[in-house]
Amino acid sequence: MTHWLCVLVQTPAHATLGSVLSYRSESALPPGTLVRVPLGKRETLGVVWDAESAHATGEFDPEKIRSVAGTLDGISPLSTAWQQLVAFAAQYYQRSIGEVALAALPPQLRELSPEQMQRRLKRGGRSAEHSAPCPPPALRAPPLPAQSALPPSRLHPSLSSEQATVLQQIHSQSGPFLLFGATGSGKTEVYLRAVQTLLENDPDAQALVMVPEINLTPQLEARFTERFAPLYGDTAVVSMHSGMTNPQRLKSWLAAHSGTARIVLGTRMAVFASMPRLRLIVVDEEHDPSYKSSEGARYSARDLAIYRGRLDGAKVLLGSATPSLESWHQSRPASEGGRYLRLHMPSRIGASPTPHGTAGSHSATPEQTMRATAGTPDGLPLVRRVDMNHQPRNAVFSIPLLEAIKERVARGEQSMVFLNRRGYAPVLHCAECGWKSECPHCSAFRVFHKIDRTLRCHHCGFTERVPRACPTCGNPDIAPLGRGTERLEEHLAELLADVRRPHSASADFPDGEPVRVARIDADTTRLKGELQSQLAAVHAGDVDVLVGTQMIAKGHDFRRITLVAAVNPDGALFSSDFRASERLFSLLMQAAGRSGRDASLGASSEVWIQTFQPTHPLYAALKQHDYPTFASAQLKERQQAGLPPFTAQALVRAEARTQDVAQAFLNAASTTAQKDMAQWEGWEQVLPQITLYPAVPMSIQRVANIERAQMLVESPSRTALQQFLGGWQSVLHATRQGPEGKGLIRWAVDVDPLAI
Ligand code: ADP
Ligand code: ZN
Ligand code: ZN
Repeated sequence: MTHWLCVLVQTPAHATLGSVLSYRSESALPPGTLVRVPLGKRETLGVVWDAESAHATGEFDPEKIRSVAGTLDGISPLSTAWQQLVAFAAQYYQRSIGEVALAALPPQLRELSPEQMQRRLKRGGRSAEHSAPCPPPALRAPPLPAQSALPPSRLHPSLSSEQATVLQQIHSQSGPFLLFGATGSGKTEVYLRAVQTLLENDPDAQALVMVPEINLTPQLEARFTERFAPLYGDTAVVSMHSGMTNPQRLKSWLAAHSGTARIVLGTRMAVFASMPRLRLIVVDEEHDPSYKSSEGARYSARDLAIYRGRLDGAKVLLGSATPSLESWHQSRPASEGGRYLRLHMPSRIGASPTPHGTAGSHSATPEQTMRATAGTPDGLPLVRRVDMNHQPRNAVFSIPLLEAIKERVARGEQSMVFLNRRGYAPVLHCAECGWKSECPHCSAFRVFHKIDRTLRCHHCGFTERVPRACPTCGNPDIAPLGRGTERLEEHLAELLADVRRPHSASADFPDGEPVRVARIDADTTRLKGELQSQLAAVHAGDVDVLVGTQMIAKGHDFRRITLVAAVNPDGALFSSDFRASERLFSLLMQAAGRSGRDASLGASSEVWIQTFQPTHPLYAALKQHDYPTFASAQLKERQQAGLPPFTAQALVRAEARTQDVAQAFLNAASTTAQKDMAQWEGWEQVLPQITLYPAVPMSIQRVANIERAQMLVESPSRTALQQFLGGWQSVLHATRQGPEGKGLIRWAVDVDPLAI
């Protein structure tokens, strides 16, 4: 008997062909089944979809409908919850459901033939058999020698009382939770314990743990593997991120889908992992912008995690020392409308004198505890503001900061200097004629990289050798303007040239070795493995002063850093982007979180802010480590200005050869919306709640010779905005086909955009 199936396939984003197609099949295949189907001349991967919820496009002509070519045997159908997640994401972020579904699957599923797939599954199956089932506790192997070499606190620390309280809350309530925990308060330990309790209590349960950056996955993976591999076998923990090869990704995906993997660690893409027994989702550093995708479906993995938790019946735990204002607002008291439960861990590990519980061997000596609590009551570093108005003009490092760095060197401690701009100088400039190193293809300057004497565009990648003389007037004296990390590193090395490392005199260095300044940013870590080896050098103490971008400010557990300095953070205070302050505050708090993580060094740990605005409220709140005060001031401003989270926003972006074409498309779609959609039945309620702003150029309006424009859509009601966007899609498509779409290269909607 013939069955008619709806099948999702991947079609180009706005192709006229819909992403849900009809096929015939001899057997009834349940929704979620993976199939191979013919599409044009090729064969492609498809997902059988529920005919009720899918709107298959095109005419239904049984004669023309082709047959499913085969199913991917051995892979059980994707769960209903997974299908619902994909359907929701597609609808909410205004993309085709086929695109979202297929992009959520590992690339190799698309590429492998059924035969290749069979072989892969057999191999995977064998390796799964090797992973012994969880042995009963009595039979657990003793720790491996490599592990026992670690300090015991690393393996089984006894919980701090704050950790214990928080875990109790997570255990007894349903969430979602926002864990508001200071940097170094032991949030990761809370994640580990929450996962551990879950796995102990439910022999099938799975947990998903997300981190914002690939860079942070190896460290986390090590901690989770160390904790759980001895209990549940080597295959219990798998990773999912874009730095993996396609075969690795397929392997992890299959392990998660089959349930062999109990814990999936990954970046934002992991939110779509197929995990049939998902019971806990952790989103670490939930404030991080990397959770928002910037291409394809521009989804927020953090927001989808909340939604997925409901679908799967999984608890959701967001964690941060500086939560996003959205999550902070959501976690206001329930009596005021809050929907998340806020959990507090204000103190750094080692600062609290009364560790909770008896198991394990961690405890700071009384002396360490005293020293650790000397700085601030919670063991957090002391924040110092240097008023740059009273420093020599053009000083990059103020005199007191330089002295403080030298003191650290003398004590054998490390410092970290942080500047959010890579390269040597952001611009090259000719003082004779005013020439600047603009990119010929973008409305942006090319950055001067001294190391290979190039001018590089950070937007389109266009790279040239630095000219010997000014290309316009021939003046040989072209000079860098401003500075990036490369120049900062060079400058600092000069300033510290006379300083010697303590106790380092040798035959080669009779007066002692020179100070070691190192730099970590996207330029020094381009090659695979470089970041790991550079981080290892910092951990090993081979570096005295580390210079870098935000890459070093996030997440890393550096033990010997006792000074963190932001040399020039003021720029964000005056940015036109309303989220700039929020980002600056969290970046500085995160950077501060790198200082004094070892409790025995905590007393001397400091954060230095060089600023021309020493009394700015943002820095005042930072000095107090007072995120709540900062957040409530920001939220008040947002509320008064009608900004998120008090309004819902979406952006439509358009790209064309000329700015006029891009803007005309957007404005035409807007006019049509306001004229025609008002006539649509039932829309009288929606349109008055929507504000459509005029099209404007994007802040970097031209990239790689393509002009970019955007239009902001706003509504006090998220539901109204969703309804509007759903209806407006067809208008945008029609405008694209009409005269105003001529010359348009592409357009896309960004719901809940992070940058405006
Ligand atoms: P966060 O993620 O909150 O910044 P971490 O989880 O990285 O903090 O913890 C900071 C340090 O404290 C880590 O080195 C961790 O091993 C250690 N730690 C965490 N909890 C405890 C505990 N209960 N006892 C001792 N050390 C702990
Ligand atoms: Zn010139
Ligand atoms: Zn460019």
